[in-house]
Amino acid sequence: MTNVLPTYPRSNLEFTHGVGSYLYTKSGEKFLDFGTGIAVNSLGYSNSYLNDKLKEQIDKLWHLSNVYQIPEQEKLAKRLCDNSFADYVFFCNSGTEAIEASIKIARRYFHDTENSSNKTEILSFSGSFHGRTIGALAAGGPDKLSSFNTTVNDFKFLEFGDHQQLQNSISEKTAAVIIEPIQGEGGVREVPKQCLEGLRKICDENKCLLIFDEVQCGVGRTGKLFAYEWSGVSPDIMTIAKAIGNGFPLGACLTSKEVGGKMDFGSHGSTFGGNPLACTVGNAVLDIMLKDKFFSEINVVAKKLYEGLQNVITDFPSVIENIRGRGFILGLKCKVENDKFVNLAREKYILTVKASDNVVRLLPPINLTLTECDEAIDKIRATCSELK
Ligand SMILES: *Cc1c(COP(=O)(O)O)cnc(C)c1O
Repeated sequence: MTNVLPTYPRSNLEFTHGVGSYLYTKSGEKFLDFGTGIAVNSLGYSNSYLNDKLKEQIDKLWHLSNVYQIPEQEKLAKRLCDNSFADYVFFCNSGTEAIEASIKIARRYFHDTENSSNKTEILSFSGSFHGRTIGALAAGGPDKLSSFNTTVNDFKFLEFGDHQQLQNSISEKTAAVIIEPIQGEGGVREVPKQCLEGLRKICDENKCLLIFDEVQCGVGRTGKLFAYEWSGVSPDIMTIAKAIGNGFPLGACLTSKEVGGKMDFGSHGSTFGGNPLACTVGNAVLDIMLKDKFFSEINVVAKKLYEGLQNVITDFPSVIENIRGRGFILGLKCKVENDKFVNLAREKYILTVKASDNVVRLLPPINLTLTECDEAIDKIRATCSELK
C-alpha cells in the first residue's frame, strides 16, 4: 500500500527529469508536456535562468519571517502592481490561499464601510473551481461541502452565462462576485468581453466588488500577463498562483488601495507566504515575461497552434466538436470520451489534461517553439485519426 492519503487517482507514469517542453521517464521515454503540472511550469522544465536565480538565493537565505524586511517580496509586489490594476499584493503559497485572502479582503472592506455591514453575500458560477479549503470550496458550489458535514453561509451559486439570474440575484446584500475570466477545470470556458463589461457595470451599480480568479488563466497563460487585459475590464481583487512560481509554491492576492486599505495589522498573514526563495523565483519569472517582445513572440506560436488545431478539428468532426480558449489555455470539446482521448494521446507521447464538460485541456509551456507546436499538432492529429 501507499502511505500517501489516497486523494489522487494517479497514473503509473514516473518521470525522472524535464527539459524545456519535455518530460522524461527512467527508461528514456520522452513526452511533450501539454499539461505543465496543470498550468504551472509555464516557462518549461530546467529553465536555466530560473534555476540560476533560485540557486543563487538558496545560498543566501531561504526563509524569513514577515516581521522583517523582505526586499525580494517588495520588488515582486511592485512589479505586479506596476503591470496590473492593483496597488497592494498579499503573498501566500497556493491558489486556494489566494482565494481565501480575496474572500477576507472583500468581507473586511464592507465590515468597515459605513452602513454596509449587511453586504455579506458572495456570488459565484457553475463550472468554477476556486480551490479546496473550506471557503474556496464554498465558492465552488453548494454540493462541494456537503460530504464534509459543513456549510458556509453567504455564498450564492449562479448558472454560468445566465444573465437574467445574475440580474435577479445581485442585490444590496452582495459583497462580491467571483469569476474566472476563463474557467479552467470547468472546461476552458471563456467569459466573453461584453459579459465581463456587463458584470463590471452591474457590480458598480450594486456597489459590490468584482474578484477575478486568475490562478489558472493568469501569468502569461493567455498570451498577456493577465487574462483580464484582453477585455479591458479590471477587477477590484485578483488571485494568481500556478505559473508565478513556475513550480515553486507561490500564490498572491492583488487588490486596489481602496479595497485592500481596510486590511490592517494582524488582519491576515502567512508564515511562508512571500519568503525570499519564492519571491526570487517569482521575480525571475517576471524577468522573462516582462521582456520586450516576449508576448508578441509567444503569440505568433499561439496563433499557429490554434490554426493547426482548427485544421485537425475540421478533418475529424466526429472526434472533436470545437476548440475553446485563448493563447495557451485551450480546450478540445470532444465527441469521444475525453478520458479516452487523453490516454491515447499519452500513447503518442503527448500529455494533456481532462476538464469538465468532456473537454481535453491543452496547457503547454507558453514559450513553446514553432517546431514543438508542429509536433503537438501532428500528435493530436494522430490521436484523432485513431479515434475517428
Ligand atoms: C488550481 C486552481 C485553484 C487552486 O489552486 P491550488 O494551488 O491548487 O490551491 C484556484 N482557482 C483556480 C482557477 C485554479 O485553477
